[in-house]
Amino acid sequence: MTLRELPRVDSILAHPAVVSAARGAPRELVKAAAREALAEVRARVQAGELADLGLDSVAERAVCLLGRMLRRSLRRCINATGVVLHTGLGRAPLASAAVEALSEVAGGYSNLQADVGSGERMAREVHVEGLLHQLTGAESAVVVNNNAAATVLVLNSLAAGREVIISRGEMVEIGGAFRLPDIVALSGCRLVEVGCTNRTHLRDYRRALSPDTALILAVHQSNYRISGFTAQTPLPDLVALARETGVACAHDLGSGALVDLSQFGLPREPTVQDSVAAGCDVVFFSGDKLLGGPQCGIIVGRRAMVEPMRTNPYYRTFRVDKLTLSALEATLRLFFDPETLCEQHRTIQLLARSADDIRARAEALAAGVRRDLPTATIGVVPVESEVGGGSLSGHTIASWALSVSTPTMEAGALAARLREGDPAIFCRVHAGCALLDLRTVLPEEDDVVATAVGRAAAAPPEESA
Ligand SMILES: *Cc1c(COP(=O)(O)O)cnc(C)c1O
Repeated sequence: MTLRELPRVDSILAHPAVVSAARGAPRELVKAAAREALAEVRARVQAGELADLGLDSVAERAVCLLGRMLRRSLRRCINATGVVLHTGLGRAPLASAAVEALSEVAGGYSNLQADVGSGERMAREVHVEGLLHQLTGAESAVVVNNNAAATVLVLNSLAAGREVIISRGEMVEIGGAFRLPDIVALSGCRLVEVGCTNRTHLRDYRRALSPDTALILAVHQSNYRISGFTAQTPLPDLVALARETGVACAHDLGSGALVDLSQFGLPREPTVQDSVAAGCDVVFFSGDKLLGGPQCGIIVGRRAMVEPMRTNPYYRTFRVDKLTLSALEATLRLFFDPETLCEQHRTIQLLARSADDIRARAEALAAGVRRDLPTATIGVVPVESEVGGGSLSGHTIASWALSVSTPTMEAGALAARLREGDPAIFCRVHAGCALLDLRTVLPEEDDVVATAVGRAAAAPPEESA
């Protein structure tokens, strides 16, 4: 085939398959798909790949590209990885109460920053401040985009131009560009590191205090563990030292648990109320980790320290919108009823699921898939789920997975096919099998998973590029 023989865009657009697929689609997108299909074919011809690339093939490719263009890019997926707070998959799945609250305010106007009583302007955090006060005991609250932003806002508001003392055992990198020493510098503060990686004592902090010290910052070791010969200074001791010397004490709690997770069989994570009760002036944490809400960073603490943060220009760059606040408010409200929390709060529900229940679901799923797919090997195997999102690192939760392998397809290719489906399914690949951990598959998704696994494992490989 030569370049001269390539079909023209007009003839692609007139091809019956394209005409049919283009019904109701914006004209410009259809043209773009035709041009892109043609460009791909041209590149393959130029590269000397002489497949059958007549009009029918190019039209088929254009239809495929158009389908992709018409599909929303950010869409619902199924998480079969077993990582409950999977950052790549959007961290915490919201409780239905939060989804309802969010969709109620999304399409219209709301009292985001207007007081219904007086009609006057008010702080947008009013919607969650009272709830956070009751749940954590803290006087005041500010909400920003994520906990990284909260860290910058706290450091800059409390210690710009001055010194911040942090233990060498807490000098964390969260991932991406969030490395604590860089964040301290960005916030306009001078970092004073104390202690050693494995041990930091109260006397280390005391020795580092200077007239320039503004803040002692404790950072929760959420996404890593230091084990062996270790010593961390207890929070109440840090608070007492800060009081005695007139500096502020802040706690970056990271994962932000509001309830004792040991009631659900998980290790006890320090809670926000623990840090507030210990006397920290300011405590900050993520909204989409163990709190199970929307992505945000929540700063709570003493009114005199937290309230002025709203006048910091950083606050204006980091503040959250009505969608976040409505979902956060609804999520926080769930914590007032411990009886229903586990059933209403999606993230806690997933964390608390019993391995036996998951196993029963996996067996039922496996039986269905085996019936449809006699050639595939379908097993039910014990696996370890993870909390994820830099929370409770090193801790795993017993779970069960559907393991799938076929004689015709590598496990990686099978996993790729599952991601191509609609909805896309993300799973793990281990020892030549695709592993679908059902802990993170939502109750209403089991049927979809069964169908998708059947289809992906049955489909001939290499059928789509
Ligand atoms: C996760 C985490 C952060 C960053 O929080 P984001 O909400 O992801 O920005 C900061 N500090 C600690 C200790 C964390 O665990």
